[in-house]
Amino acid sequence: MSNDVVICLSASSGYDRAAQGVAGAGRKLADELSGSLRAVVVGAADDQMLADVAEVADAVIVADQPELADYQPESYLAAFEHICRQLEPAAVLLGSDTVGLELTPRLAARLGGSPMSDGTGLSVADGTIRVSRSAYGGKAEAVYELKRSPAVVWVRARGFEPALPAGSEAVVEKTSVELPEATTRIVERHVEEQEGIPLDDAQLVVGGGRGLGAAEPFDDLRILATVMNAAVGASRSACDEGWVPPSYQIGQTGKKIAPELYLAVAISGAAQHMLGVSDAKALCAINTDPDAPIFRSCHFGIVEDYRKVVPPLTERLRELKQ
Ligand code: FAD
Repeated sequence: MSNDVVICLSASSGYDRAAQGVAGAGRKLADELSGSLRAVVVGAADDQMLADVAEVADAVIVADQPELADYQPESYLAAFEHICRQLEPAAVLLGSDTVGLELTPRLAARLGGSPMSDGTGLSVADGTIRVSRSAYGGKAEAVYELKRSPAVVWVRARGFEPALPAGSEAVVEKTSVELPEATTRIVERHVEEQEGIPLDDAQLVVGGGRGLGAAEPFDDLRILATVMNAAVGASRSACDEGWVPPSYQIGQTGKKIAPELYLAVAISGAAQHMLGVSDAKALCAINTDPDAPIFRSCHFGIVEDYRKVVPPLTERLRELKQ
């Protein structure tokens, strides 16, 4: 076994903010282990993605045969396993997307390593890799020692700073993998239309909750978000009510965001929601209830009916922009 860290990336996502976070987490761990950072890219990666990854990793291995053009769990698992077996790393990191969530435990089992989900911090103590993750709905942090090698972890990628350029561009090596016959196939694909700024990478996010009372007030939030150059998200309750699509959901079972500012409007601040915004640099809330849990975590709070705050705030920001 080497001291190296492998990051597993899917070509279809490109070198997006999540992949940058996985690379940042990988570089930090590789430095602590005094090992190298190796990136494994599966799928039809374009030149830009490979150039971006080569800038931050010490080596890049690409498996881009036609059967890997679309994500298919067994094929991707086989490709990551094959390459990891050759590299014998101390740790394998994946992101918090479908690929990471589906493949982390399976890859760990195949490699005989220790699986761990939802890592928010990585460290090394007495030669053993440790992973921290939130516990009890975000009220505590648990630190786990991963005793079997390799440690195979999906990390909350956006919570990690992107990796910095390594100084010299890594060599990109292409490899071919023998793939198993797929037992599933994609029969249909629905691509949700994206309005406004995507939530995942937004620097500013406005979130709406059940306290909005209906779908229409989300239009006011969208207007505010347009003026702010922000993305719009929501609590699970607002999504469950059908006021906005499930893709808006922020939280434990939704998206985990890491904006510079999160403005929560009529959201109580349940632990499951807060898990999705714990990496926000600044948190602001508008809520009629001074005892709402969200006021315990936020940096700025306005105790008021959102209807009295959102329109004048939008107007004032518009004036300031002009
Ligand atoms: P409420 O808790 O009903 O809060 C509404 C708030 O609006 C209140 O604080 C109220 O004071 C305020 N309000 C009312 N009227 C106004 C007004 N006119 N102006 C201003 N404020 C007003 N939730 C998530 O969000 N994301 C998740 O990923 C998630 N995952 C979950 C996973 C599990 C396993 C479970 C059990 C729950 C999960 N939940 C999740 C649900 C979570 O526990 C809460 O129920 C949910 O977050 C509450 O949403 P809310 O804050 O919009 O609604």
